[in-house]
Amino acid sequence: MAGSYEAMWEKLNLDLEAHAGLLEVLGKFYGDIYLSQDKRLRGMEYLDFVLSEIHGLRIKELQEAKAQGRKVVGTFCVFVPEELVYAADAIQVGLCAGAEAGFDKAEKILPRNTCALIKSFVGFKLSRLCPFFESCDLIVGETTCDGKKKAYEIFADYAPVYVMEIPQMKHACDRDLWKAEVLRFKEAVEKLTGRTITAESLKKAVRLINDRRRVLQRLNRLRAAEPTPISGRDVLLVNQVSFYDDPARFTQKISELCDELEQKIARGEGVADGAQRVMLSGCPMAIPNWKLPYIIESSGAVVVGEESCVGTRNTRDLVDESPDTLDALLDALVDRYMRIDCACFTPNQERLDHIVAMARELKVKGVIHYGLSFCQPYGIESFKVEKALRQAGIPMLTIETDYSMEDVEQLKTRVEAFVEMIR
Ligand code: SF4
Ligand code: SF4
Repeated sequence: MAGSYEAMWEKLNLDLEAHAGLLEVLGKFYGDIYLSQDKRLRGMEYLDFVLSEIHGLRIKELQEAKAQGRKVVGTFCVFVPEELVYAADAIQVGLCAGAEAGFDKAEKILPRNTCALIKSFVGFKLSRLCPFFESCDLIVGETTCDGKKKAYEIFADYAPVYVMEIPQMKHACDRDLWKAEVLRFKEAVEKLTGRTITAESLKKAVRLINDRRRVLQRLNRLRAAEPTPISGRDVLLVNQVSFYDDPARFTQKISELCDELEQKIARGEGVADGAQRVMLSGCPMAIPNWKLPYIIESSGAVVVGEESCVGTRNTRDLVDESPDTLDALLDALVDRYMRIDCACFTPNQERLDHIVAMARELKVKGVIHYGLSFCQPYGIESFKVEKALRQAGIPMLTIETDYSMEDVEQLKTRVEAFVEMIR
């Protein structure tokens, strides 16, 4: 890919040498973790292609769209209402923060004991490694946790940053705050794009994003079959790519993947004979954070669900499509996003209820709770998750890790012992 896109990357002011190194590592990692799998679905070729062209073709598309006057908005959190961005004919991309590249630079301005996700997004920007970052006309942050909130203040010196305030409780006054924030964001997007969001454009955008959620819901229903017809790693990748690719194309391609999955299920074919069904829960896993799913699926288990923002939290709830007025559609948007059960909320009983219900529906033998080191919201909430699951008779393993590979052997030993215990 490098040869044909170098001029574009240079124009985006990437550090070409460091970027080439990153692509090499990413390619090798992807080969080891993904391409080595047996009995993979043909439809995964689309994902392989998207990944192989992630800094190439997709960036070229974004640049072409920008040349036609469209704006690109980058985000880090599923709280940012994508529908408003598409309603103003802009494009939204989820900015990944799943690798250690750039940590040396990030640690010069952030405390070392900051979560890896935050160090990663700061590090990618400071090291000029990510063409998505460099393509963004606006980067939207949020006040979900203190680490992110304060990091965006520093980040604003390097990129055009807009921060949304996210409520931390779910009383009526919190909804009022969130509605005010959604309206403020609508104005910011209109100002950025020079377009006015109308009832028609918002309704169309709501359908576009709901369709993507619906196809992911379908995938989640199908993957729950026994025997498991698709690896957890592959479904994680589908979820990760959903943040980058064009929504309509993604929906179409994943719909084809689901058709293939249905045929596979009808033939009774599985991907992991005898593997124990487990569910992942906790912090989101951004590309290329595939370490833990790979360890789990190399230890006699298969991941059949992700209770995470790169998973069901992002797809579970749809926006009501029925209203016809702009005000009513905006209210529907506000209500849908208020249902997000991120650990930044207190109390957060909904998340505990969702985890137990999901574990039962998926008939898992155990749950693996994944928390990034130094992430207080998920780290502290894991105690309540464990208690809720224990009361439901479902064992849980708590894993706290980061993006380094140093603890792979230690994690493998713990995961293998857990799988042995639930067997
Ligand atoms: S876990 Fe919370 S802060 Fe992180 S992406 Fe999800 S909603 Fe946003
Ligand atoms: S993983 Fe935790 S600490 Fe890190 S950004 Fe997300 S909520 Fe904040």
